[in-house]
This record gives sequence, structure tokens and C-alpha cells, in this order.
Amino acid sequence: MKKMLAAVFHKDEKSGGEIKLEEVDIPQIKKGDHVLIEVKASSICGTDLKILKGGHPATDNTILGHEFVGVVKEIGENIIDLKIGDKIVVDPNEKCGYCINCRRGLSNLCEYMALGTTFGIFQNGGFAKYCVLPRNALFKLPDSIDMIAASLIEPLSCAVHCHNIADVKESDNVVIIGAGPMGLIIESVIRKHPIKKLISIEIDQWRGQKALELGADHWINPKTQDVKQEIQNITNGQGANVIIDAVGIADTFEMATKIWAPGARLICFGQDSRAEAIIKPNDIVRYQRKIMGSYIGYAEDFLDAIELISNKVIDIDKLITTTLPLEKLISTGFNQKLNQNYTIIMIEHLQNIQEKQ
Ligand SMILES: [Zn+2]
Ligand SMILES: [Zn+2]
Repeated sequence: MKKMLAAVFHKDEKSGGEIKLEEVDIPQIKKGDHVLIEVKASSICGTDLKILKGGHPATDNTILGHEFVGVVKEIGENIIDLKIGDKIVVDPNEKCGYCINCRRGLSNLCEYMALGTTFGIFQNGGFAKYCVLPRNALFKLPDSIDMIAASLIEPLSCAVHCHNIADVKESDNVVIIGAGPMGLIIESVIRKHPIKKLISIEIDQWRGQKALELGADHWINPKTQDVKQEIQNITNGQGANVIIDAVGIADTFEMATKIWAPGARLICFGQDSRAEAIIKPNDIVRYQRKIMGSYIGYAEDFLDAIELISNKVIDIDKLITTTLPLEKLISTGFNQKLNQNYTIIMIEHLQNIQEKQ
């Protein structure tokens, strides 16, 4: 059987585990709706790092990589709308379409997905030369799209979803807490909308500068500045009308509730299942504020993200700091991400990998 190089996760209940480059069998189509993809680019996500740190339910012995694009190499007998060579992007969270949440229009909360089915986390994903996926998990891309930029369609779709939930208006002062990869991608989407002021809150110097580079009007560093006072100054005493918490710990949630204007919308985006925060219900009632969650996205958010990248509306390239071949995924990619405090979005360029017989 033909072999390929793949980055396989080996779980260790105590330490989290490690990721190893291994030669594995090239996957084969087993069902009529399956498609064999030749992966062209995958990006390293913060979730990949969390998996290795432990406490994540990811499946042992799985090929990681859930933000990826490729071309169609082979199709199952039931596929009628894809042909060999078509460019595709993967939605790693396959939806069932029939659970109560799917049928109520909340496909991002699909019950099947909640069982732990994500490609690249619970089932084999894109840190490999090939991957077999159901048609359901694929979106066709325009031929002209740049595949490196396209590998960020999945995280961009989550940012589009967040932007839709935030429902920003021209008169809004918008604050984004956290300028990690997702905070910055959300910033890039919101920046396209006419708003009053866009303010980034970030403790890391490099990330804060990056937020300014991408178009934030102000960057506040909570380590050295009084966040509440700064927001008061910038917004002429109004406060923030929209706050996106792209971190999701108790501190950032509580920070948001100190800077919100009357009538503000607080969108919780960053996730930490251990976080517990204190809030005064009366601060919500008396000033008619809203607290909302934004979790991954709908299929239509994927379609919007594809348009934003293919029409180059969002300059996603500015967020990409390194591209590497799969061989260097661990030695350079993961180590660089793990050892540096900075925002780095790695894109693995997989075209050079030689297929072994
Ligand atoms: Zn991700
Ligand atoms: Zn469902």
C-alpha cells in the first residue's frame, strides 16, 4: 500500500501527548460520498497547541490539522458536483442536518458534532499529503483563489459569524479584548465595517503592534495602562458599545463589564471551560446590556469567508508569518508556536512532499 507522511497525535493522559511525523497508509475512499483530497495548505491553530498541552478530548492516534484546503484527487460514486482538480476548503465540523439544533437553524450546535467528530481533532485531518472526507464537509473554491490564504477560511468563517452576532453600527465604539490570531482575524473583518473607533486590548507588545498595523485606532496594554480610564478618554466618557472577548478567561470577562456602555453588546468568543466570572445582574437590567456567545459558524459564514478571501477584501496574508513544508511542522512550526509568546499563524505548504511507494 502506498504511504504518505503525516503528523499523528499520540495521547498521554498525564502530559497531554505529542505529535510525531510518521509514514502511514494513504487513505482510501470507502463510501459513495467520499472524496480523496490532496492537501495543499494547513494552518496550525491554537487548538492544536491546547491538544498537546493536555486536558483536551482529542482522539489518540489521529492525524491533526483542521484548517486546510486541497484539490480533489478522487471521488466516490455518488459525487455529482465535484471533479478531479477542483479546489476545496474543508469545514472540519461536519453537521448531521437532522438533529434538533440543525433543524432549528443552529447547525453550529449540531448534536452529532458534539459527540466529538471534528476532522483533524477526533478524526484524521490535514497535516498529511492526503485526506478522505465526506462531500458534506467540503466547500468548492474558485479556481483563482490563493491556497495559502484559503487555508484561513475556516477561522475567518468563525470571525464572520462573530461579526454578524455583534451587529456593529456606524456609531459604535468597538473593543476587541485579545489580539491573538482570532482576535486579529475578527479585527480584520470588523475593520471593513464603518464604525466609530476600533480599540484593541492586549498585554503582549508584538500582538498589540500587530493590532495597530491591521487597523485598530488604539491599542491599550492592561499591564501598563488603566483600561477603564483609557476607554473613557477614547470614547469621550461613553464606554464601549460592542466588546468582543477573544480570550475568554474570568479577568477579560470582568474587564468587559467595567468598560461597557449602556445598551452595550458583549460577545463572548474565546473559550476556557474552567473560567468562572462574577457579574452583577442589575448591571445588565438597568442598562439594557446584552451578553452573547459566538461559537464557530454556519455554512453561510463559510460562503462569506470564501468571498472575502477570493475577492481579497480581507488582507489575510498580513497574518501569515511563516510557511513551511510538512517535514518541518514539528521542528520549526510547533516549536516556534510553543516557544514564542507571539501571534504566529503558520501555514504548512505541502506541495513539496514526495509520495513514497
Ligand atoms: Zn482551529
Ligand atoms: Zn445536527
